Amino acid sequence: MSDLTKNQDAASKYLAPFKDIVTGHFINGEIVRPDKSKTFENLCPADSSSLGEICQATQTEVDEACTCAAEAFPKWRDLAPNERRVRLHTLADHIEERAEEIALVESMDCGQPIRFMKQAAIRGAANFRFFADKAPEACNGLALHQTEHTNYTMRTPIGPVGIITPWNTPFMLATWKIAPALAAGCTVVHKPAELSPLSAMILAEISAESGIPPGVWNTVNGIGETTGKAISEHELIKAVALVGESTTGGHIMRQGADTLKRVHFELGGKNPVIVFDDADLDRALDAVVFMIYSLNGQRCTSSSRLLIQNTIKDDFLVALEERVKKLRVGHPLDPLTEVGPLIHREHLEKVLGYIDIARTERATVKVGGDQPPELSSGNYINPALITDATNAMRVAREEIFGPVLTTMGFSSEEEAVELANDSVYGLSGYIWTKDVGRAMRLANKIEAGMLWVNSENNRNLPSPFGGMKMSGIGRDGGDYSFDFYMETKNVCIAHDTHKVPSLGK
Ligand code: NAD
Repeated sequence: MSDLTKNQDAASKYLAPFKDIVTGHFINGEIVRPDKSKTFENLCPADSSSLGEICQATQTEVDEACTCAAEAFPKWRDLAPNERRVRLHTLADHIEERAEEIALVESMDCGQPIRFMKQAAIRGAANFRFFADKAPEACNGLALHQTEHTNYTMRTPIGPVGIITPWNTPFMLATWKIAPALAAGCTVVHKPAELSPLSAMILAEISAESGIPPGVWNTVNGIGETTGKAISEHELIKAVALVGESTTGGHIMRQGADTLKRVHFELGGKNPVIVFDDADLDRALDAVVFMIYSLNGQRCTSSSRLLIQNTIKDDFLVALEERVKKLRVGHPLDPLTEVGPLIHREHLEKVLGYIDIARTERATVKVGGDQPPELSSGNYINPALITDATNAMRVAREEIFGPVLTTMGFSSEEEAVELANDSVYGLSGYIWTKDVGRAMRLANKIEAGMLWVNSENNRNLPSPFGGMKMSGIGRDGGDYSFDFYMETKNVCIAHDTHKVPSLGK
């Protein structure tokens, strides 16, 4: 039996419950399936087969979830932080126990190759462990001494929060947002993306088995424009953390305006990778290929714009072309697959549309950009390499969110910075050079929330994660997450030595 068949058999077992029973919501510690609920069909990106029906939460279910989160909040907030720590570690244990199931379900639900999804549960568990250990210290702020007063700050959880996540790496991103919220002492109403809702339901189930009290964690399924909107407008929800498109960030800001919602946005990107002629070109080539074609190019930090120094451009592009041609496109459960199907037929059409746009704009589609005929039942596209582009073209300016790399040359350091910054986005950037001074100068000048020098995207949980410009508001990671999920309170105590103003004496 091939590894693909073995994985398919195992996946069928784990997917069966979702196919047999309509997937509901998780509210107040229980699965809820309202009678006569509107449902939508969840399709598998690999072959467009049905993975089951999903309930669509109305205002009634959102109200219920938000009310339960509000009622559960005081008890969860007041639970000894060390107790929260223990429960979040238990949750991480349970995630690790179900790692195979999570990887297979996730791969079939969102089309990401199993070689990358194997890590989904491990990374998700790591998110819970990291923030679990920080829970006991989360309330501590600064102590600031003055001669006659001492100020000290403390942090308290903000309250029930809405967490709205996308479809590209659903499990990892849900844990990345929910873990710090719970560690801080907040309660949660989570809405996973309608295109990949399954792993969020496994996660909710795990939370119930891990001693997370009813109401602390609620998951509602549904469409962004209705269910997501209802969460972001809800008066009991104090803050909304969104990972999604920049336009969705705008909608949520408007929807949350009347209730003065605090928002945290991790949004789109058109991230540059800049390769100078003094770089280690073998390592740079590996990283360039990895950072756009892994995860099907459906990755916010993907380096979708290659800026390559003209002195090495031709040779580098020849080597790149060879590598892109050899990328293995295939079924997401095949361990050999490097690029799987895109999330949805509509998204495939959007990405194919950009290939047409590239040709209309007179760039060259050097490799790929077509559909592999033998895989026509799924949302597959051959990884594309676009050359002869300029930064004015739409394929260089707009987020395609697929396995499409747009390349262009530059002559000088100044030109590289200018091209890198000529974008509405500012999420991440990658610099390849052996000249430390140049790396430092570029790191200073490039408008992006995260920069990597001589590296692909490398994850470090305490470091700040997030973007500037249209790529986001706020940062996740370490203490930065607690700044969002908690209120900072200052207490000023007099030493009884200063003169208090005395009026009306
Ligand atoms: P999306 O914005 O369409 O959807 C994200 C979530 O928002 C979904 O759950 C959706 O239902 C919900 N939503 C949509 N409209 C809403 C509304 N009006 N009110 C409330 N909720 C609403 O994004 P997507 O297509 O699922 O994901 C791809 C996008 O996510 C890309 O732009 C990508 O760059 C971005 N992303 C960013 C990061 C990051 O960390 N910066 C990480 C991953 C993905």
